[in-house]
Amino acid sequence: MALTQFESAADRLSLDPNLRLRLMAPKRAIMVSLPVRMDDGHVETFSGYRVHHDNSLGPSKGGVRYHPNVNLGEVAALAMWMTWKCALMGLPFGGAKGGVNCDPGRLSRNELQRLTRRYTTEIVQFIGPEVDIPAPDVGTNDQIMAWMMDTYSQIKGYAVPGVVTGKPVVIGGSLGRTEATGRGVVACIAEALRDRGETLVGKQAVVQGFGNVGANVARLLAAAGARVIAVSDVRSGVYNAAGLDIPALLQHVAEARFIEGFKQGEAVTNTDLLLLPCDLLIPAALGGQITEENAPQLACAMLVEAANGPTTPAADAILDARGIFVIPDVLANAGGVVVSYFEWVQDLQQFFWKEKEIEDKLCALMVEAFRTVRALAHSEQISMRQAALMLAIRKIAQAQLARGLFP
Ligand code: NAD
Repeated sequence: MALTQFESAADRLSLDPNLRLRLMAPKRAIMVSLPVRMDDGHVETFSGYRVHHDNSLGPSKGGVRYHPNVNLGEVAALAMWMTWKCALMGLPFGGAKGGVNCDPGRLSRNELQRLTRRYTTEIVQFIGPEVDIPAPDVGTNDQIMAWMMDTYSQIKGYAVPGVVTGKPVVIGGSLGRTEATGRGVVACIAEALRDRGETLVGKQAVVQGFGNVGANVARLLAAAGARVIAVSDVRSGVYNAAGLDIPALLQHVAEARFIEGFKQGEAVTNTDLLLLPCDLLIPAALGGQITEENAPQLACAMLVEAANGPTTPAADAILDARGIFVIPDVLANAGGVVVSYFEWVQDLQQFFWKEKEIEDKLCALMVEAFRTVRALAHSEQISMRQAALMLAIRKIAQAQLARGLFP
């Protein structure tokens, strides 16, 4: 998917064939074996990955995913998307991604900690504030980042807060980082609606995934006056035509971990949830959810890709033909890496900003990026995805040409 999208944008840019080949493969891909002692005494060996796609503009940046489907190909695709996202947002970063093939829900806190510390140790030469800066993604959170920061710092012999972002505020995390991705998604939606002379008030939204991104999107949309009519997680979904009580649902999930058992709505499967008539459909879970099978049946006015890679290229073509407005992942969910950038800057300067300042700077960057992408999409009569990728790829190409080839 990542390569198909890249090739289509590269064709339209008439990208230099040398640059094209260089950008199609990662700069560096690391596979590591992670033996971990489990609580019952036996040793289990997990596979870990870290891929640096490009670092022409600065250290590479990208999340760490803990999920049973993690593999080298997926991590490499996610790393490529990070390159485009950082370039599009004007951040001085390249793209990276990491992951461990595991089911974090089945690991105890101690097992997770040992796994995280071993993973960090195995990739220690390849991360650092000037090299590559991990952050949370699916299945990881601020606690995992704290263990990564501590392991790296133990090896160095002093505290290095800038080695990861998305860590707790007490050890150099940034205010506003946890909700940053969700806040950026909502800023993009508001800007897209403003274009049409509309606002979020009364808009019906459907959100797939209720983790960091999905839960924050739902909370912020509801707070802005939208009606969140359905949400789901890996186990189940809940639907209420009158709008779900999101604060009550957040409280329920904080206690029960899953949406299952929430009484104020009807059950809906993940498959049916995507087909509900709504103004805003927001996939915020895993990739590959909108396919050529369900794309013809989608009943949303706007598709907002909070997740990475939720739409296959075949589905994309169908949505385009159906006139469904798509805000692509590299733009819609870029709020996370934007505030990660703010966190890194604060760590390097040892000077911390107020939450309001962070929110304002984030929203300004999101709106500016949205307008730039929309302007190119309008002038070239192309999709928002094509426009976003063209802007990003052009910037990386210019950087690589300016730097030249070594030796
Ligand atoms: P998370 O682990 O916090 O939450 C993932 C959610 O998806 C959970 O509610 C889980 O139950 C649900 N889920 C898993 N499999 C599912 C399935 N098959 N069907 C429906 N729901 C399912 O992860 P997150 O950090 O919220 O990330 C979600 C997406 O957003 C990912 O695609 C990630 O790459 C992307 N993203 C995250 C960030 C970030 O800052 N965390 C930034 C940019 C993009």
